[in-house]
Amino acid sequence: MPEIREDPLSGRLSLVAPERGRRPHDFRITPESVETSPCPFCPGNEHLAPPEVLRLEGEAGEPWSVRVVPNKFAALEPGNPELPWSGFLEPLPGVGRHEVLIETPEHEKALAELKPSQVRRVLEAFCRRKEAFRAEGWCYALFFKNHGARAGASRRHSHSQLLALPFLPPLLRREFVRTEEFRREKGRCLFCEILEREGQGPRKILETENFLAVAAFAPRQPLETWIFWKPHGRPFDSLTEKEQEEFAEILLTLLQALNRTLPDLPYNFFLHLEPLRGPFPEDFHWHLELVPALTRVAGFEWGAEAYIVPLAPEEAAVWLKRA
Ligand SMILES: [Zn+2]
Ligand SMILES: [Zn+2]
Ligand SMILES: [Zn+2]
Repeated sequence: MPEIREDPLSGRLSLVAPERGRRPHDFRITPESVETSPCPFCPGNEHLAPPEVLRLEGEAGEPWSVRVVPNKFAALEPGNPELPWSGFLEPLPGVGRHEVLIETPEHEKALAELKPSQVRRVLEAFCRRKEAFRAEGWCYALFFKNHGARAGASRRHSHSQLLALPFLPPLLRREFVRTEEFRREKGRCLFCEILEREGQGPRKILETENFLAVAAFAPRQPLETWIFWKPHGRPFDSLTEKEQEEFAEILLTLLQALNRTLPDLPYNFFLHLEPLRGPFPEDFHWHLELVPALTRVAGFEWGAEAYIVPLAPEEAAVWLKRA
């Protein structure tokens, strides 16, 4: 059983999920491996992955459109979602769900090359799994993507990952606390303030009726970009089909601009949403953070939790707008 451990000093969490038989020398640095085994995400190879938990049917001629399967190397295992909190120098059981969302039946197609309707199906699959996680009593649903070997993707076939967590991720917890503090001090919503200021500043990349994409003011990586949901007080859960489409389109436009700026850019993105349990945090606007994997995280970043970024976000915004 994997373990959840909370660092008593920083509140940071670690999921310790040992793979059986791993020894320190197994972690030797080797050149990035080339995929040789048959792809378990391709149509016809479904039996190579664990049995699916969700399938969305495809259009005529397609075997399917999106599939969700349990992760073969899960960082968390199913169990009781009611976690005793917290474990001071005591590991907690690593319970949760860890799934892989196969975004397309086509092996060679990147997310950025899919049609908006297909990206919307990806979102739909995530929403369906999220509802299942809620029904099971989990605390938080994390949706994220690693694209490219440098960003941690172990397979080329386009996929993202879903985690059902028995805790609120520390980064989210910090965002909620900061919005509460801002409300106490300034009497208004921190996100609305950011949206108002960034919506007319030099970091704005593009804007639609309900979304704003900006180069992050204090990025962790060059070309880091965020997409904010603009309406105040409306959770992710309340999105209509049309709004999901709008989101799929702005995400695709942004990914394509990033690719034109730097072909096949390796990146990670993740959604920050309201928790599955408890009341909606009034001053929270859900958002997507897209962090390219371009510079290495090293001593300064580990030591200070601060980042050295060799490209100004204002400059990044100019490049991305041009693309
Ligand atoms: Zn494949
Ligand atoms: Zn607001
Ligand atoms: Zn966030």
